[in-house]
Amino acid sequence: MIAIGGGGFIPARMLRTFLKKTERGNIPIQAIGLSLYEELANAGGEEKPGTQVQKTQWLNFGASHSEISLLGRRILIVDEVDDTRTTLAYAVEELKKDVEAEEIRRGMKPGESKTTFGVFVLHNKLKPKKRDLPEDIMKNYFAAVEMPDQWLVYPWDALDIESHTELANKNA
Ligand code: 5GP
Repeated sequence: MIAIGGGGFIPARMLRTFLKKTERGNIPIQAIGLSLYEELANAGGEEKPGTQVQKTQWLNFGASHSEISLLGRRILIVDEVDDTRTTLAYAVEELKKDVEAEEIRRGMKPGESKTTFGVFVLHNKLKPKKRDLPEDIMKNYFAAVEMPDQWLVYPWDALDIESHTELANKNA
């Protein structure tokens, strides 16, 4: 699994409990950090809001000392929520680039390693998305809950878990 931090960390760890162990033990969880921000791009004199994603943390599989490879793996990208889909689309795009670069480095043709990606989110908001995910990814797209476009407050963001739970129960 590749968890997108920070929201994907706790869901990924919980999900691992429900996934089968591999012959090498528990499924490894790697972490990447992505942050989404709105930016005012000046396009031909016209100020247009755009959405940018920034890497705050990334895999070091490309490093020469890395003993881990993405190639040939079935990779599940985990995040807490699919809102506009911008973050997930960016993550998929960048990870696919990494796979292709590694294939070329190892003298393979692009796609030869048959590395596959899937996505798991706790919540998918049913709304028009700003970005699409490739078809091959949507075949392995899992959302635990599909929901209307509402703001979610996750328990791991609560400073006081007792009152968070009380509020959650009241609104259930
Ligand atoms: P997207 O790129 O899909 O628009 O947004 C993804 C990120 O926005 C999520 O990883 C999350 O950090 C944040 N986000 C979007 N909607 C919510 C929400 O309802 N609650 C919380 N806590 N974060 C959200």
